[in-house]
Order: sequence, then structure tokens, then C-alpha cells
Amino acid sequence: MLAKTTVAVLGATGSIGRATLDVLESLGGPWRAVGLSAHSRLPELVELSQRFSPDLVVAACPESAGRFDFTSLPAGVKRLIGPEGLIALAELPEVDTVVAAVVGSAGLASSLAAARQGKRLALANKEALVVAGSLLTHALKRSGGELLPVDSEHSAIFQALQAGRSREVARVVLTASGGPFRTWTAGQIAKATVDDALAHPTWQMGRKITIDSATMMNKALEVIEARWLFDLPAEKIQVVVHPQSIIHSMVEFVDGSVVAQLSPPDMRLPIQYALTYPDRIPSPCPKMDWTGAMSWDLEPVDIERFPALSLGWEVAERGGSCGAVVNAANEAAVELFLQGEIKFPEIVAGCRRVLEHHNFDPSPELGELMRLDGWAREEITKWAALC
Ligand code: NDP
Ligand code: MG
Repeated sequence: MLAKTTVAVLGATGSIGRATLDVLESLGGPWRAVGLSAHSRLPELVELSQRFSPDLVVAACPESAGRFDFTSLPAGVKRLIGPEGLIALAELPEVDTVVAAVVGSAGLASSLAAARQGKRLALANKEALVVAGSLLTHALKRSGGELLPVDSEHSAIFQALQAGRSREVARVVLTASGGPFRTWTAGQIAKATVDDALAHPTWQMGRKITIDSATMMNKALEVIEARWLFDLPAEKIQVVVHPQSIIHSMVEFVDGSVVAQLSPPDMRLPIQYALTYPDRIPSPCPKMDWTGAMSWDLEPVDIERFPALSLGWEVAERGGSCGAVVNAANEAAVELFLQGEIKFPEIVAGCRRVLEHHNFDPSPELGELMRLDGWAREEITKWAALC
């Protein structure tokens, strides 16, 4: 198989986007970032363009682009403005692989465009699968495109699955760091500040996913992500807390064998694997040190203190419109929490309330999913005003 070396990085200014560019730089040779996108961090986009010489850049936020002076963008680099630019970049004929690293449902349309064009979709944007897992996986089947997980847990499962056949899988076990409140009491969690919630113990990530890790909504979204990526029923997806983030996830086969993937925590590793699969290439990521003693903890999840988790299994089981509604409610609630408008436990309480109040649609099309996304955001805003 020929290596797929031309890459579009959607969300290049973010944590995953920058890690992807580091990986491309270290791979060198034929590997190339053909296109980059940003939303509002446009000085960073220009800096990255000077470093990586893409053919095309996209500034997805028209307001930020309208205020920005692009004169230092290198000569010959084309630019597109607005969300349609993301779709154009994902569809670019010269692009083999689209790294979808936009945060939130804003990344759905471009992920879907890449899937429809039969690209390799290296997916960090888990929200796209949560909102529209059925549409996205069908689009890939029709086009012959590939879906490679970037999320570390799903990359681990993808790798471990290669040890057996899909009918031999008994269950998958997603590991969770437990976030900054793993050892906090419910009373302490109720009073958590924005700074407390942003202090993740093992991973450096964007603000939204960091808050999702603190509520453990991130793991709920990952249960739904696993349901679509690996076509598994909710009851075959389990979660265990593993604070060291060394075991990235596991697959248990019908004979009782458990196959896991391990490494020191570094997102460049699953990103590189999504780019180079099926090849493995030396990477600059830190390696395990087996010369000293070490111990790893595994603990059961606590749904009482982290009620977001139950939403994961519920949405994975019900499917339909549930993912779009919970995802949008969560995005809006996280934003309100970051702005100091609601308290920490209200993020998940709001998501539960909006899920229960929505009119369930078992097989929504894209237009309906987008309408529900807008509806759920409005519901959260109205509800927050009453809190
Ligand atoms: P960041 O917040 O660091 O980056 C988000 C990127 O998306 C930025 O480039 C940002 O542009 C862009 N963006 C934001 N809003 C929009 C929008 N409305 N339209 C288009 N582009 C937009 O997030 P992360 O890199 O941490 O996360 C990205 C995705 O990867 C998320 O889905 C997350 O769940 C997932 N993920 C992240 C992990 C991590 O370690 N960070 C691990 C596993 C999954 P700008 O900065 O210019 O405003
Ligand atoms: Mg993850």
C-alpha cells in the first residue's frame, strides 16, 4: 500500500493540530501539510504557514478574518474564509489524509466531507461521531474511505483489535485518568472553580476537552465514539479509572485474553499511527522505562460522583438524535461554566435535562441534527438563566 503523505490539518492552531504538525515535521521526507485551518488564532495560523508552507489556509471565523491583516501570509498561499473553507480543504483532491482536530460539532461538516470523498479520516474530533456516528460511518462505507482514531483510547483499541477477529471480541475497556477530581468528594466537586477544573493531572489539552475530563463527560463521549468506531453495543463497552494514563485501553476476547496498548502519555503517538498505519515508524515520543519499579492503579468508576458517565451508555444505546442533543448541551454548558455563569455540577445536570426534554428521532438526517444542535444550545442558555 502506498503511504498517504499529503495531509490537511483542520484545527491546526489547537493542541492536537500542533501535535500533528510536530509529527509531520519529525516524519519529514514526503510528508507534507497541504492545508491548515484555524478559527480565531490567526497570527498563529500565519506563523504555522511560514513554518510549513501549505498550499491553502482556512480562517474559519469570518469576524476574526475580517479584522485580521493577512499581509505576512507567505506569497502563493491561498486562503479561504468561513466554515465552507473547512469543507473545501477537506475535499481538496491532492489531500490523502484529513486530520480532523476542530473542537466540537463545528468539525462535523468537514469530517463528513472528508468521509464522502473517500479520504483517510484521522479523527480527533470525537464530537462528529457522537453527533452523527451513523451518517459518518455510512459515508465512509459508501466512499471506501478509512476512519483512523486519534483519540488515545480508541487508537489503543484499534491496535489491540488486530490481535483477534471482530466476532471474538467480548468487550472493550476504555481507561480514564479520572481527571482532576478523581479523589474529591461530591461536596468538594460541587464547589470546583474553573481553575480547579482546568488543572488536568496527566494531559495538556484544549479547554473544552479539559473540562470534559473533569466532569468525565469526555469518557461518556468516548463510549459513544467507541460504539460507532467499532460497531459495538453499549454493553460491550466498559470504563475503568487508571490515573497514570499508561494503559491507553484494552480489548478482552472471548477466551478471556486481554490485549492492551501502553506508552507514556503523548498524543503524538496515536496521531502518528493514524497517519502511518499500517506502518509503524520510529517516533520522538518518550519510551517506557522498564529498568525501575513502577505500579499502576486501576479503579472502578464512580457514577455517583461523575453522573456524566451514565449519559454515555444511555446515548450509545438509544442512538438517533440523543448524541446531537447531549453533545450540543454539553458544549454550551461548558462555555457557560468557563464564563462563570453556571456551577460545575450544573454542566451535567443541564445535559441530562435537555436530553430528557427533547423529541427523540430514531434516524435523523444532517439537517435535523443541526436543528437539534441549535435547539439544545438554546435550551441550556434558557435553563442557565434560571439557575
Ligand atoms: P483546542 O481547543 O486546542 O483546538 C481546537 C481547534 O479547533 C483550534 O484550531 C481552533 O481554532 C479550532 N476551532 C475552534 N472552534 C472552531 C470552529 N467553530 N470552527 C472551526 N474551527 C474551530 O482543542 P484540542 O486540540 O484539545 O481538541 C480538538 C479535538 O480533539 C476535540 O474534539 C477533542 O475532543 C479531541 N481530542 C483532543 C485531545 C487532546 O489531547 N487535546 C485528545 C483526544 C481527543 P483557533 O484556535 O484558531 O480558535
Ligand atoms: Mg481520549
